[in-house]
Amino acid sequence: MANWGILYLCPTPIGNMEDITLRTLNVLKTVDVIAAEDTRHTIKLLNHYGISKPLISYHEHNEKSRSQEIIKTLKNGKSVALVSDAGMPLISDPGQELVKLAIDEGIKVVPLPGPSAALTALIASGIATRRFCFEGFLPENKKERQKILEELKSERRTIIIYESPHHLAKTLRDLFSSLGNRKITVARELTKIHEEFFHADLRSALEHFSQEVKGEFVLVLDGNQEPAQENWNNLSILDHINLYMSSGMSKMEAIKNVARDRNMPKSEVYKHAIDK
Ligand code: SAM
Repeated sequence: MANWGILYLCPTPIGNMEDITLRTLNVLKTVDVIAAEDTRHTIKLLNHYGISKPLISYHEHNEKSRSQEIIKTLKNGKSVALVSDAGMPLISDPGQELVKLAIDEGIKVVPLPGPSAALTALIASGIATRRFCFEGFLPENKKERQKILEELKSERRTIIIYESPHHLAKTLRDLFSSLGNRKITVARELTKIHEEFFHADLRSALEHFSQEVKGEFVLVLDGNQEPAQENWNNLSILDHINLYMSSGMSKMEAIKNVARDRNMPKSEVYKHAIDK
């Protein structure tokens, strides 16, 4: 409707206050209301930029009822900006309910680009960026967690996981026992003073982060690099090598893996590759 307000989805910094776009600041300055996951948290950001606006809380415990109220506000011609404590709203943060309802009601939804820990970690991981999946937090419930870990075993795309400091060691242990050893980057405190990247494999990460550590973490894991049995059973040795190389492996790594799959000496696979 012409006189309805617009729902803006506004990303906010994930640590460094400067990581907010000019457009987001303008939207925060011009909307009628800001719906925030934690108003005490958002007020600090607004104060930093000299913005003063009516704030209402919108968090996981009042998502349903608040969404209805926000829709009414929008239909009264007022514009609303949705923010979470950090990063993109709706990405492991509240907002899904409101956006769905707004779309169903025909209200205009405008997403603004900006920071999110998942992509920030991914691009600095050195792990394949062409295809990836985002898992957010692994479920705490044992059965659900096991189900997701089982699914991730065969996931070929890069995997991005969020974790809190007190569950980091357990999650690394669970990942190692389910997925086996593979490349990982543990990104810690992105955009903050103590930002660091631990580029290693799951086994070393497990040792390194065995004690409780401080900070916020994103785990970026290599997808499953092993060709499925049925994928290589009908292949020639050379095509089998090429299959591994097409996933980004060097020739020598590919030869090592083919030798292991086929239970052949490496030298024989190597000879095959050279002969052809
Ligand atoms: N909406 C946020 C986003 O777009 O990234 C995510 C919110 S989620 C509740 C919080 C989790 O995101 C943290 O536990 C951590 O896994 C990750 N995270 C957020 N900020 C981070 C940072 N500066 N460094 C590393 N991880 C971060």
